[in-house]
Formats: sequence, C-alpha cells, structure tokens
Amino acid sequence: MKKAPTKAEREHMSKVASLGCLVCQRPANVHHIRPIGLGMGMRSSHYQTIPLCREHHQGQFSIHNCKQEFEAMYGTEHEMLQRTLKEIENIEEANNFFNYNKGEK
Ligand SMILES: [Zn+2]
Ligand SMILES: [Zn+2]
Repeated sequence: MKKAPTKAEREHMSKVASLGCLVCQRPANVHHIRPIGLGMGMRSSHYQTIPLCREHHQGQFSIHNCKQEFEAMYGTEHEMLQRTLKEIENIEEANNFFNYNKGEK
C-alpha cells in the first residue's frame, strides 16, 4: 500500500533526486526500494528512496529489469540507500555550517 507523501517526505525525495543518479550522476528520479525494517528507526517508505536516472531505473540494464546483475555490479538497494542518506547528511551539515557562519556576521 502506497501512502501519498507528506510535505516533509516530498522535500526528502527532492533532496534524494537532486543528488543525481548513484551510478552515473545524471539527473535522477527516486526509486523506492523494497522496504526493510519498518518500525526499526526507519520512517515511511518515502525515506527509503535512492536516486537513479531513467536508464538505471527502468532502462535495459536497470534496477527494475536486471535487479540481480544490477545489485552485483553497484551494490544492493540497501547499500545504495545508506550511501544516499549519508550524502544527504553531509550536505545538510555543510548547509548548517554555512548558515552558522552567516549568522556570525
Ligand atoms: Zn544513471
Ligand atoms: Zn523504481
């Protein structure tokens, strides 16, 4: 069952997409991974999303069409999710730092 995303979830997904494709850095859309560990500190499935371009998302060699080969080559969905969340964390830290410095003046 897919729930419509809340505003915070939409913001999160637009951050995910803005990272660019995990494989090739081209403009990306979000892919919802198979949800894991719901209720174990993970929020809704909209937070379990990774950025992939059209080709790597649904193209000939993509996570949807050749999942096993894709994961063997680029890591599992869950590894990609960890990378995605880490990158967003880094960006947010950098932004906080920047805002903090601005506040100093
Ligand atoms: Zn790609
Ligand atoms: Zn998908």
